[in-house]
Amino acid sequence: MDKKEQFYQRLEQRGVSRRDFMRYCTFLTATMGLSASFVPKVAEVFAAPKQRPPVIWLNFGECTGCTEAMLRTVYPYADELVLEILSVEYHETIMAAAGHQAEEQLQAALEKHSGKFICVAEGAIPTKYNGGYGRIGGRTFLEIAQEVIPQAAATICIGTCACFGGVPAAKPNPGGYMGVGQALKMKTINIPGCPPNPVNLVGTIVNYLLLGKLPAVDDMGRPLFAYGKTIHDQCPRRSHFENEEFVEEFGSKEAALGYCLYKMGCRGPETYNNCPVAKFNDGTSWPVEAGHPCIGCSEPDFWDKMTPFYEEF
Ligand code: SF4
Ligand code: SF4
Repeated sequence: MDKKEQFYQRLEQRGVSRRDFMRYCTFLTATMGLSASFVPKVAEVFAAPKQRPPVIWLNFGECTGCTEAMLRTVYPYADELVLEILSVEYHETIMAAAGHQAEEQLQAALEKHSGKFICVAEGAIPTKYNGGYGRIGGRTFLEIAQEVIPQAAATICIGTCACFGGVPAAKPNPGGYMGVGQALKMKTINIPGCPPNPVNLVGTIVNYLLLGKLPAVDDMGRPLFAYGKTIHDQCPRRSHFENEEFVEEFGSKEAALGYCLYKMGCRGPETYNNCPVAKFNDGTSWPVEAGHPCIGCSEPDFWDKMTPFYEEF
């Protein structure tokens, strides 16, 4: 049985039909802003990958929510992504090795794949007190980042902490936490969100595998295919905003009617992300659809600039 058939068999064992899989590839292709002619090629990246790029995944100051989100990808499943599509060489949370053995694995991966691996960075980096607010194996996050990231072919920051500092950088920020690009004074691909949608990481990686380059980004390093429009511009409640039909109390008749959440503090007009289209949990729903205002989690300094939540801007 060839690689592709084995892939479809694995999917079927998990209750995913070829039709479901092709529907996902069509959705991912559209999300990435590619024409329908790319759908079979996108399917090929999953079903019969020609290359498995080595990945070194670094964790800095964070809650591991971004890894948790990634582990809940449905297509590809996390094990497919980690073992069959990518070759994840180091990831503290999911690797079997621990302690010195894990650190040796990092050094071995760096020696073998220098200049060729994708670095995925999760979490912010403390920069004050010589980076003293965060250490792994006796080295600061900053030292680890300074060693590993310049050797990567590309660095993808996953989550608002790695992109812009996120919650660890919220005022008063005693540790001087910063986004990875800011701490290292270099450009990174940024996939913000708290947590980010795994489909945007998968889309970025598929773009790289399919077209041999990273996607076009905005001036904050965010892929345009995912962060090119505001939540507000894609929101299904938008007609209610235009008609000035607002929810003013949770649990009210207006809330049941799906009116606009602007007066409940929705930050959708200032927030760039594709949540209304990509949704979460295998396309089940997203916060505004579930009746909760957007809190602007994919914007820089959202914890300081978007608060107090639940109050009209
Ligand atoms: S719910 Fe939020 S994003 Fe949707 S229309 Fe209202 S203000 Fe805009
Ligand atoms: S709707 Fe807003 S707060 Fe919610 S995940 Fe999307 S960008 Fe973040």
